[in-house]
Amino acid sequence: MKLSARNVATLAAILFGACTRAAPEQQVINDAAAALGGRDRILSVKTLVIEGNGENGNLGQDLTPERTIQTFTVSNYKREIDVAGNRTRVEQTRTPTFAYFQGQQPQKQVLGVAGDVGYNISPDGNATRVPAAVAKDRRVEILHHPLTIVRAALDPGAALANARTANGQKVVDVTTGGLTFTLALDAATNLPSRVVSMADNLNLGDVAIETAFADYQDVNGLKLPARLTTTTDRVMTADLHATRQAVDGPTGDLAAPAAAVSAAAINAVPPATVSVQEVAKGVWWLAGQSHHSVLVEFADHLTLIEAPQNDTRALAVIAKARELRPGKPLTTVVVTHHHFDHSGGVRAAVSEGLGVVAHKSTEAFFKSAVSRPHTIVPDALARNPKPLKIETVDEELELKDAMQTVELYHIAGSPHADSLLMAYFPRERILVEADVFTPGAAVAPYAANLMENIEKRKLRIDRIVPIHGTIAPFAELQKVVGGT
Ligand SMILES: [Zn+2]
Ligand SMILES: [Zn+2]
Repeated sequence: MKLSARNVATLAAILFGACTRAAPEQQVINDAAAALGGRDRILSVKTLVIEGNGENGNLGQDLTPERTIQTFTVSNYKREIDVAGNRTRVEQTRTPTFAYFQGQQPQKQVLGVAGDVGYNISPDGNATRVPAAVAKDRRVEILHHPLTIVRAALDPGAALANARTANGQKVVDVTTGGLTFTLALDAATNLPSRVVSMADNLNLGDVAIETAFADYQDVNGLKLPARLTTTTDRVMTADLHATRQAVDGPTGDLAAPAAAVSAAAINAVPPATVSVQEVAKGVWWLAGQSHHSVLVEFADHLTLIEAPQNDTRALAVIAKARELRPGKPLTTVVVTHHHFDHSGGVRAAVSEGLGVVAHKSTEAFFKSAVSRPHTIVPDALARNPKPLKIETVDEELELKDAMQTVELYHIAGSPHADSLLMAYFPRERILVEADVFTPGAAVAPYAANLMENIEKRKLRIDRIVPIHGTIAPFAELQKVVGGT
């Protein structure tokens, strides 16, 4: 038998009598359990339902890397937790309060996890399985609640450690299911004030996910927080106000939908598909999935526009670029803007020795992104560290040699992001842009501003070669702008 600190404490209590004080770690949990309604009451709970409203943040997708002001209004929020069964489902309606790329209509979401199976249910009722990493995050989220974390800490299988006082609060680390959570209690009331756990974020690396609890109220013999505020790396991702809470009331069926259960587990990012289309001499559109790149050949080197999404996509695109022109070094990646899905491959590009060209407003962000620790899920750059070489663009930058000319322009005043660059090929009359016009998309909230920037620069464009969607004649943008 392995003796944990708590086993030893329990043994000591048995040997020396019940008057022996609990170990400090256990005492913090005992205090929390007593404040919430008592150990027995907590252990008897089967289900918890929280209904309310609030807001979601827009981590990594805001106007600038530093600003965190864009939010979605959350209504019809309902979170059901099968406390003993490790299952949860959240239903909510999100309405963007800013110019969102899909338009500003409300979006209904159903997000769940049951054991190993995480799933989303779309408004048309179709269930899809989410990657294993997302399912894990959702299982972790179940424990970002006073009732569930204290209940888990009361389980003899949990390891308690590091009882301490920090910022006037009682703090203890709880390890359960192989993951460690830091639980803090208000020193006066002993009610949990927050839970913190570490997670991997593709762009930010090791991040703290923290949920803070406030506005405790009495619910069926328990004290439960009516306000739960979650941050990732200190940026608000969810701020919820409960208007109704129920313990052991009815829940819907919290089993994972059959379509999600029967779908194969997604344990890793699937291999990338990179298609190649030569759109002009020395210019290739590297598409194939949701986020495209453009490869540009200069006299003695190659430059890539966009290293999107993640290591898998970015490394596949880089390999394809080198395969297309093996005789010239790929030296540079131009980043269209800082949004996480568009900059998610920048670390991989740096690991491959590429220099970065990006708008000047993103310099601090990329310096930080390249230097942050990725110990939870080591990525290509964590395995092969390289320094960041960055060249920033303010209003414009011309990349020109005997063979090729590309003009990079800042897209000023875009409601999508402040850091946007577009790439113009004057000889080929091609424009490369991301997100501000996606040919074929149902809505185009940023197209009018793009057209203003094109007109300001007096660019003469025949074709748009986009980072999303299909290549389109310039007339398509004119039509969309004219029609709004
Ligand atoms: Zn974007
Ligand atoms: Zn995009």
